[in-house]
Amino acid sequence: MYDYLIVGSGLYGAVFAREMTDKGYKCLVIDKRNHIGGNVYTENIEQINVHKYGAHIFHTSDKRVWDYVNQFARFNNYINMPIADFKGERYNLPFNMNTFEQMWGVTEPDEAKAIIEKQREEAGIKEPKNLEETAISLVGRDIYEKLIKGYTGKQWGRPCDELPPFIIKRLPVRFTYDNNYFNDIYQGIPIGGYTKMVENMLCGIEVLLGVDFLKNRQELSAKAKTVVFTGAIDEYFDYKYGALEYRSIRFEEKILDIPDFQGNAVVNYTDSDTPYTRIIEHKHFEFGTGPKTVISYEYSAEWQKGDEPYYPVNNEQNNTLFEKYLAEAQKTPNVIFGGRLGEYKYYDMDKVILSALNKTKNI
Ligand code: UDP
Repeated sequence: MYDYLIVGSGLYGAVFAREMTDKGYKCLVIDKRNHIGGNVYTENIEQINVHKYGAHIFHTSDKRVWDYVNQFARFNNYINMPIADFKGERYNLPFNMNTFEQMWGVTEPDEAKAIIEKQREEAGIKEPKNLEETAISLVGRDIYEKLIKGYTGKQWGRPCDELPPFIIKRLPVRFTYDNNYFNDIYQGIPIGGYTKMVENMLCGIEVLLGVDFLKNRQELSAKAKTVVFTGAIDEYFDYKYGALEYRSIRFEEKILDIPDFQGNAVVNYTDSDTPYTRIIEHKHFEFGTGPKTVISYEYSAEWQKGDEPYYPVNNEQNNTLFEKYLAEAQKTPNVIFGGRLGEYKYYDMDKVILSALNKTKNI
């Protein structure tokens, strides 16, 4: 008999298992995949740690979370500085003086601010209500049209005026020459890969791979006093109120016999015609210098039952539906729901870790 059966060995499950094991509880972690790590899983291919389920750049301003992850990995000093490609025109991201100079030829912050203000006024936006209006207010129409509209449409499969503003507010807007994609104090990639980091978190804890909880939930639940479920909350409840919406991603991975493909880890293709959203060149996350390179094209798609859910679509309609599942979860004894899928939140990695730390702290 276990105290906790933890379903899913991603960050939420691994942190939960580590903390409760350290408090003296007996934990069993299961995962339906044949590897640990959930979507932060990395695989070593040609001496390069490949982010198999999409790029993961660790960033946080929370010292407690930073100190926590540093117990399990040493982090390099990678700073994310993606490039945007709009039909061959290249721009720095996030939106900063480099972008404004490339777009308008301006070199002074006040000139850039004046252009943005003019474009916002021309659009007649007073109080932005959706992603489109928020984006135009923040960076003006030119940048919205070239760097946001097409990319966001591809990534979310919905027009920008039907998406919530918080999605675009993830990106900094700066009137300095600073290409750091994040504002956080701490940033980096675990040296040796995320899989190694999660392996260290799970050290000494029983893990069973290739076990699908939902296919055998009664027998598996009987193994523990409490279940910690980190999969999709609507799936747990057999979609009884209807399915929540997610975005899924298809990755096309290529190993190339050249040392460098694009000179940067992340290049976003922001026009609507290019079918993929971005190309990741994994070696640049770790300053790799080997003779080969591995790249991944990311194609965004609407999630259908049976696909991997990656991003919750946190619009009003889905958040309202999620509240129903949450109420159901709160009535379900001895089951804890956690993580991006369990809590249906577009969480970054540090927020997932914090959520697991807060949950276990109170037990
Ligand atoms: N975004 C954009 N153009 C870009 C990069 C991002 O319009 O070149 C917008 C887009 O709406 C995206 C959001 O910013 O969904 C958040 O991007 P982020 O890079 O944080 O997404 P993630 O890395 O989580 O996929």
